[in-house]
Amino acid sequence: MPTPLPQELFDAFAAGVYLLFGLVHADLWWRRRERRGHLWLAGACGFALLVDLTGMASRHVVPEPPSLLDAANLLGVGGATVCLLELALSLERRRAGRLTRGIEAGVLVLAPAAGLTLEPALLHPALLLCALLLAQALLRAVRAARAGRRGAGTVARGFVFLALCLLADVAMELGWIPRREGLPAVGFIVLFLASAKALADRQDQEQQELAELRIDLERRVEERTLALQEANERLAAASRTDALTGLPNRRGFVEAGEAELERFRRSGRPFSIVLADIDHFKSVNDRFGHATGDEALRAVAEAIRRNLRAQDVVARWGGEEFIFLLPETGEAGATRAADFVREQVAASPIELAGEPLPLTLSARVAEHRAERTLDATLAAADRALYRAKEAGRNRVMAG
Ligand code: GH3
Ligand code: MG
Ligand code: MG
Repeated sequence: MPTPLPQELFDAFAAGVYLLFGLVHADLWWRRRERRGHLWLAGACGFALLVDLTGMASRHVVPEPPSLLDAANLLGVGGATVCLLELALSLERRRAGRLTRGIEAGVLVLAPAAGLTLEPALLHPALLLCALLLAQALLRAVRAARAGRRGAGTVARGFVFLALCLLADVAMELGWIPRREGLPAVGFIVLFLASAKALADRQDQEQQELAELRIDLERRVEERTLALQEANERLAAASRTDALTGLPNRRGFVEAGEAELERFRRSGRPFSIVLADIDHFKSVNDRFGHATGDEALRAVAEAIRRNLRAQDVVARWGGEEFIFLLPETGEAGATRAADFVREQVAASPIELAGEPLPLTLSARVAEHRAERTLDATLAAADRALYRAKEAGRNRVMAG
């Protein structure tokens, strides 16, 4: 028959485990205060240590009961119970309701009071309340496990094991089964181990969730940035485009002109600008109305675009005036190109409101010269346009 482990040795071992666990979890809580599970586990270990030490002391000091040692011992029992319930609640990510808080406070007052008097009238309700809190903790852990909280199942099993140990202890107390010391302590140690594992698992889960959240957030920021970039690009394009004809507007043309100017500075190859104005356009509006006038403007824009090269820039300069920029083209070439466009427009009357409407253009060509700024070339073309008009319209003038 093996000699049973001396009670003292077992109590000392349990005290060591409680102390170690308590310190580790207090430290883990201290590092990140929102992890309250560690705080409750450290508290439960601390109270279990109190139960353990006062149990050991009372066997040596042997004071006449009831004593402060009994009060401290029962405070330890009550405190550990409260902490375990809070731990289970934190696993469920819930807070205790008012009733539970009331029972917890009752246990913390009643348990030491029962220890001081050892009156059954206090002792029995205190122990009953502790049993109630532990039962609730067990239920909470089961519910947390059902809700998919990682590690909660392990804690629930730990609670079941502790409950069995405590029930066996009561049965021993009543003499139903032979006495075996230290069973509740084994139950607590197993539960603490299970809880520590559950908390570690939960942290893993939280970190995983956090990583997923971060990835999701980064993806969303990327999407928004892209959408914003696209919106900006659309806006920038719109600010350079004439809404009626779809051609570049004045700003779009000036930007293209500046790029061409840069090329001109590097290569020295000439480029020309043509300013074309529809003749007697006012009368189109007067005869057919503004909406039909708009249609005519679109048709002329389309005809100009069709009859120039792809690399030529055509823009709406304003009103019924169009401007072309002809890269690598001198005055003679630009005059020929402008005349070709004029001929094409004049030769293909636009169908407006069922009748063919002949439209003509008057244009002025200006070759950009090194000593001039782009503005000066534009102004020169603009100022001189009236000469083409005065000369009888439907013509191109250079110089
Ligand atoms: P000219 O041969 O001397 O150029 O005569 P014109 O009638 O073409 O010249 P004027 O400058 O007197 O008139 C230009 C007309 O162009 C006046 C204006 O109503 C019309 N116009 C300017 N912009 C638009 C537009 O966006 N839509 C329409 N429908 N008409 C426009
Ligand atoms: Mg005009
Ligand atoms: Mg005009």
